Amino acid sequence: MYDFKSDKRFENLKPFQEKLWLASPTMHGIELEYMTQAYQTNWMSTVGSNIDEMERLLADYVGVKYAAGLTSGTAALHLAIRLAGEKLYGARRAKEGTLAGHKVFCSDLTFDATVNPVAYEGGEAVFIDAEYDTWNMSPEALEKAFEIYPETRLVVLAHLYGTPGKIDEIRGICKAHKAMLVEDAAESLGASYKGIQTGNFGDYGIVSFNGNKIITGSCGGAFLSNSKSDTNKIRKWSTQSREAAPWYQHEELGYNYRMSNVIAGVVRGQIKYIDEHIGQKKEIYERYKKGLADLPVAMNPLGTEGIPNYWLSCMTIHPSAMCECMRSETGKLYSHRKGKTCPDEILDALASFNIEGRPIWKPMHLQALYRGNGFITADGSGRGITDAYIENEKKFSVGADLFERGLCLPSDNKMTAEQQNVVIDIIHRCFL
Ligand SMILES: *Cc1c(COP(=O)(O)O)cnc(C)c1O
Repeated sequence: MYDFKSDKRFENLKPFQEKLWLASPTMHGIELEYMTQAYQTNWMSTVGSNIDEMERLLADYVGVKYAAGLTSGTAALHLAIRLAGEKLYGARRAKEGTLAGHKVFCSDLTFDATVNPVAYEGGEAVFIDAEYDTWNMSPEALEKAFEIYPETRLVVLAHLYGTPGKIDEIRGICKAHKAMLVEDAAESLGASYKGIQTGNFGDYGIVSFNGNKIITGSCGGAFLSNSKSDTNKIRKWSTQSREAAPWYQHEELGYNYRMSNVIAGVVRGQIKYIDEHIGQKKEIYERYKKGLADLPVAMNPLGTEGIPNYWLSCMTIHPSAMCECMRSETGKLYSHRKGKTCPDEILDALASFNIEGRPIWKPMHLQALYRGNGFITADGSGRGITDAYIENEKKFSVGADLFERGLCLPSDNKMTAEQQNVVIDIIHRCFL
């Protein structure tokens, strides 16, 4: 990688001694007390008061009736999608996947954890393009998808970077087509839409406590629902589906997905700090917005109907200020021009000064893993729909455009204003 430290544009700038992270865990002390409590009472397994309390506090915070603590957000999505598949298509073919032979409409611009569980269940994800107002699933594209594949009955929606998607529109479309909705609120815990928190809007919701999320257990996730029986079913599946019998009796396929009581102690301690973390993230976002206002860039949109949790601050470069650049499957190439830059140059420059940034999620329809899957855009074109699309992928896809022009900026809760000013300064120097 080119070393920006010896570039004249970056004169008199020193790298950080300690790395400035994109988003790292922020602990408060109480987490250790709950973990220690689990240790001292020997509740070191997947049962205990930390799990019970964590589930209660989380459900209370989000405003759903029930939560089930699991090993990860991905595990929560898997079981939520499996349960939806079972409700829609029956449990008969559980061993080959409850979605075998069925299409599922999924956010295209997201982390692949959102969509992999569809494949775990034998289903075929069809990716729905993003829109510019919130960077989330386009209701227009979703409507088109139902025109093309009217038999589809399941939608998986992610709220990217903490900004709620166009929930009313998407729920309306799901209702009109009798489809179930699974809401991936892994990145948006604490964000709300018209006064109601994300995680409430789907038939099932999930959150993640991965190390870089708004709160963390170091890992972990939770399933959210208003149904007691559904939540209990998820708890049962997550502990290998044991039946009430004196021996190990199994009638359903099970998983080892239950959250540990130690991890639950960390999450339990973190829940009361969600709002404080959101406040810090909001300040970070606003400082970037102000500090970058004189450049040909835009911050990630916040939507108009919701209150985001500002999990990650992101920016896009105006098309006219993009230098020449290209990406292969695993490589990148760019050529600097005065007054212009590109996400990879900014990310490399930040890395030279020991600062972590990240590209925008690479859309699922561009992933080699999902090359054979369908993809639908708001104008009804997309892969498998028009041959021209393959040739002109970027021209038609909002997700590909955001991936090309956007990046995630360091958004760590513990970043000081001085440190953030250095990040802002480096971005300015990239345009010199
Ligand atoms: C983090 C994340 C997940 C998965 O959560 P894990 O706890 O890491 O398994 C799912 N979806 C999205 C959008 C995420 O950002």
